[in-house]
Amino acid sequence: MIYLDNAGTTKMFEECVEVHKIFSCEQFFNPSALSSESMAVEKLIRDTEQYFLNRLGAREGNILFTGCATESNNLAIKGSLRSGDWEYVFSAGEHPSVFNVAKKLELDGYKVHFVSLNKQGQVDLAELEKVLNKKTRLISIMHVSNETGAINDLEEISKLKDRLCPRSVFHVDGVQGFMKIPFSIRKTSVDLYSFSAHKLHGPKGVAGLYVRNKNNLKELFQGGGQQFGLRSGTENVSGIMQFKKALELIDEVSNFDKVKLLKHKFIETISRESGIVSMDFGGSPYIENLVFLGVKGETMLHALDEKGVIVGLGSACSAKKAGNRVLEVLGVPKDKIISSARISFNAFQTVEEVEKAAEIIVDVYRNIKERVS
Ligand code: PLP
Repeated sequence: MIYLDNAGTTKMFEECVEVHKIFSCEQFFNPSALSSESMAVEKLIRDTEQYFLNRLGAREGNILFTGCATESNNLAIKGSLRSGDWEYVFSAGEHPSVFNVAKKLELDGYKVHFVSLNKQGQVDLAELEKVLNKKTRLISIMHVSNETGAINDLEEISKLKDRLCPRSVFHVDGVQGFMKIPFSIRKTSVDLYSFSAHKLHGPKGVAGLYVRNKNNLKELFQGGGQQFGLRSGTENVSGIMQFKKALELIDEVSNFDKVKLLKHKFIETISRESGIVSMDFGGSPYIENLVFLGVKGETMLHALDEKGVIVGLGSACSAKKAGNRVLEVLGVPKDKIISSARISFNAFQTVEEVEKAAEIIVDVYRNIKERVS
């Protein structure tokens, strides 16, 4: 099987299994209890928090560990709401775990702006500049689009925030950017940054939220007061330690170059067939959108599945729904959207593997085209 749906989820590193065993069956203690064993576990979590801050390039702040990035995004946005005449700004290309929260805020009477995307799928900075003002309470713009791979310029957005609404909170959904795109949060004014372990060869059920100033955030639920009172509930110690193990095995800088080469070789092979077109948004090398002229993306997905090649149809959360909101916003015609599929790589694949997958994709496409014409 050749797996090309890594933006949906990734295969967990086997090294995490051993970590799971240690922190579930040996050092299984509750970090909030007072025994020396518990305090040792608590210390490991604090050290892990520091490790994550270092990997983000943060000089200050905290990490909250959550259950998934959907939770991190909800906590970041709902925890930043304030009563009064405030405005909330989102990009039109956000993942459903941000976009649907924004839609709900709008329904509840909050003043919400959705800023358009440019042709490369990035947030339109000129429009953003017009929207931001002293009443802006929250800006929530993703790092890398899960649909197109478009990379938003967080440094430029930070400059706009600092100039036009310095008191606002800047949240970034970093799920497709963290440990994939070389990045240092200290060069930005990002206040909140979400990320998820299962996109990074870690386990499902654990994720994080970077919080620059914890006094600016409100909790979503009340409980035992763990994690500064901002995310009550006993920490998923095994999950957190496995997530750390996964990061230790990732070198985002060399991986970035590796994946660039994988994508290049993949596209080179695919281009032998003129009926398969790359949408080429020019962003993250981890994500590629292909259009199969005259064939539905879903038909390709199932035919490829039978040949052992797994591809995606956009966000796993919305893959079962028709259409693609983000491609529609970008003005991609309906027939192209229906004929598209998302290919996403990981840094541990080989050139041979992705070239083989591209050959299979070309063969499958030609066979289907022959049958339908
Ligand atoms: N944000 C983005 C950009 C994503 O790609 C995803 C997952 O597809 C999420 C948020 C949600 O992550 P999780 O599955 O950890 O809730």
